Amino acid sequence: MNEEFMNEAIRLAEECARLGEVPIGAVVVKRFPDGERIVGRGANSRESRKTALGHAELSAIADACKSLGGWRLHNCDLYVTLEPCPMCSGAAVNARIDNVYFGAYDKKNGCGGSVMDMSEQPFTHRPNFVGGIMEEECAELLRKFFRELRKEKKHMDINMIKADTDEQLLTVSRLADEIWHEYFPCILTAGQIDYMVEKFQSFPAMKSQVEKGYSYYIISKNGEYLGYTAVCPEEDGLFLSKLYIKKENRGKGYARQAFEFLKKLCAENGYKFIRLTVNKYNADTIAVYEKLGFELLRSEVTDIGNGYVMDDFVYIYNMKG
Ligand SMILES: [Zn+2]
Repeated sequence: MNEEFMNEAIRLAEECARLGEVPIGAVVVKRFPDGERIVGRGANSRESRKTALGHAELSAIADACKSLGGWRLHNCDLYVTLEPCPMCSGAAVNARIDNVYFGAYDKKNGCGGSVMDMSEQPFTHRPNFVGGIMEEECAELLRKFFRELRKEKKHMDINMIKADTDEQLLTVSRLADEIWHEYFPCILTAGQIDYMVEKFQSFPAMKSQVEKGYSYYIISKNGEYLGYTAVCPEEDGLFLSKLYIKKENRGKGYARQAFEFLKKLCAENGYKFIRLTVNKYNADTIAVYEKLGFELLRSEVTDIGNGYVMDDFVYIYNMKG
């Protein structure tokens, strides 16, 4: 047993927590004649890959099989931050793992002695399980994650309603008409606002955007509509097309809450960044995005027809940042 390897498992767990995964990390270590080396790494990826099989140990074992070129992991040990479940302790048996070193105990699902002891079952191969390695650090990882999740839930008092029906899209178009005419006069001419609302935010325009993959969400609280947002997947990221809050609801943290919702959406879908464009002269909104952690990528001028252009900055938020 070498704590250095558990430290690497902890690092992998912390990394996946930033993507919204329950923090569990694992490494497979092989004992070579000249010393021990990590041959496989894995972290919990159930949310981002949307699979019940996304456990850290399975990923680490698969990674080790790949790097060693075979399924028999001779002279290998598994280090994992949480006591393995039935599936993963079973995988340790199948991979011929010698020792399973785990950190925190899992009283509800653990098969290294908590619910059952895999090493006591009469299988052809019996890994040796050793629990409680750097237990406090490993347990604290999970406690911290769930503490923050509870805090986040408490602070999230808005509802994000996906606009799927025609009626909901009509609601969004009414919100857009109201917000755009109130918000943009200091930046755009009245003619351009009318043109853009018609071109981008009328019901038929939004309907065709939805057909192309856009999703609209109404931001609501206690049945009252506060604003709306629209997103569309692009490459391995998310394009944040719109995020507008009605005047009387600004400065109350609702944009941040909507942004937390979008970050969660990214984590669940494995998107690596959120990209947006914002009018260069829209200083208030730029300040909001910069405060949320967006970074300036470049400027961009887009011809939108009828003699109008959009003079924008492109901002990006990196999920791993
Ligand atoms: Zn498992």
